[in-house]
Amino acid sequence: MTRSRQDRPYPARIIAPPRHTRDGDISPAWLLMQAAQLSWEIRSILQLINGLRLNLGEELQIHSEASDMLLNAAHATAIMEAQLPLAPAWSSGPPRSRSIFAQAREAGTDPADVRPDLHMLRPPINPHVSNDVDAALRDDPDPDAQCAGTTLKKDRCTKTIVTGIGSAHCSIHLTPAERQRRDQLRAAQDRRLRAIQDALDEQRIGLAARWADHYGRRPHRLELPSPPGRPRRPALVDDHVELAFAEDEQAMLALYDTGWPALCPRSAEIIDALLDWPRATITDVAIIATEQRPERWSSAEQWLESSIWDGIRPPALALPAAGQAPELDEHPAVQVLRRHLDDDHHAWQRWHTGFSALVEACDDPPLETMADLLAFWQDIGILTSHDSATNTLIWKVEKSPPSPWRVLYTRGHLVEPRLLATALDWLLANDTPQDPDLPPREVFHVILTSNAQPSPASDMVGSGATGMPS
Ligand SMILES: [Zn+2]
Repeated sequence: MTRSRQDRPYPARIIAPPRHTRDGDISPAWLLMQAAQLSWEIRSILQLINGLRLNLGEELQIHSEASDMLLNAAHATAIMEAQLPLAPAWSSGPPRSRSIFAQAREAGTDPADVRPDLHMLRPPINPHVSNDVDAALRDDPDPDAQCAGTTLKKDRCTKTIVTGIGSAHCSIHLTPAERQRRDQLRAAQDRRLRAIQDALDEQRIGLAARWADHYGRRPHRLELPSPPGRPRRPALVDDHVELAFAEDEQAMLALYDTGWPALCPRSAEIIDALLDWPRATITDVAIIATEQRPERWSSAEQWLESSIWDGIRPPALALPAAGQAPELDEHPAVQVLRRHLDDDHHAWQRWHTGFSALVEACDDPPLETMADLLAFWQDIGILTSHDSATNTLIWKVEKSPPSPWRVLYTRGHLVEPRLLATALDWLLANDTPQDPDLPPREVFHVILTSNAQPSPASDMVGSGATGMPS
């Protein structure tokens, strides 16, 4: 047994090419490493699911070969990226990866000096486990040395020595001390092998969870932050700041009571910002919202212009339609994936249709961006402007923001009855808290007394009103 790569006296340099070339193009070396990484992930997933429903032995074997080739190609590109010395190529045109290894060896370069930045390849294990192996290893001046022992016929033994333990003998002629060192080394190597296997298993399970998360689930809406606690102790009336603080908390509680936060997409981000800074300009709100998710937004403008459905609308995944690839359809992971995608898509579609109808029934233009959503909140009176010494317009949550029922009641006569009915049905379907001062019955009554020009389809009024609670 000889020293493995992991026991090299100096570690290999990890090469991570930048994503873009100097010209701003996407770096082929970076893309190749992603391809190698993905193929490694696919291999790990196949290993995890092999035999659970299908025997994937063949697929695993073919894919493993392809994966190994891609890993080699990533390694070759790392050698080129690191600009290690290479012998001149024999032919023109882009080299194959194996020719890079040949060129490197010809120039006296050790290809193992670098490795591509693929973090999955070697899951971390407890360093003690590796140290035990190192401690048990001894150098052999000549790994191919002949055994110093003698046979029963008193001849010199012709076998080679056991390596890695500083022994002078083959496995038959080991001295008791050498035998003990060999057993120690074997035990340490077994422990390391088991640790690596455990780490790989754990890695595969983590990878599968990540895949399910990435391909099958999208955050539908940021969870709404918890509202301020209630009941509150009575505010100290003589303290102006304390009073304003209590007022803002009460306003936020009242907003939660209306049900608006649960109806509006991405309202959690606005509320989070307002909890941080209850009296703010629209730009302030955008800045705080951006700072709360720096990995998602790079500027307040970007946040303001982002779609209200960003992160909610499910991704379009290029899966062949059901029935087109029966073998794929049969795969349990694909079935789960399809179900998630379908569920997500329907949930989003329901929300999108219902919310759009609600906005239209509030006699407001369609909302596209977060800036539109904030303008909508201002328009319907959730946010009101607050007196400030400067000329900038400061907004805060209205002390008692109008419920969706109230807004529809006030504005519903301006819109088509059918639209109003759709919006009201959607409020009921969402269990929107009722307005204590305004039973849904009265709001539905607006449909019947609507001043809007009846549309050719106004006979739909009746069907809309069937959702009316008794
Ligand atoms: Zn021997």
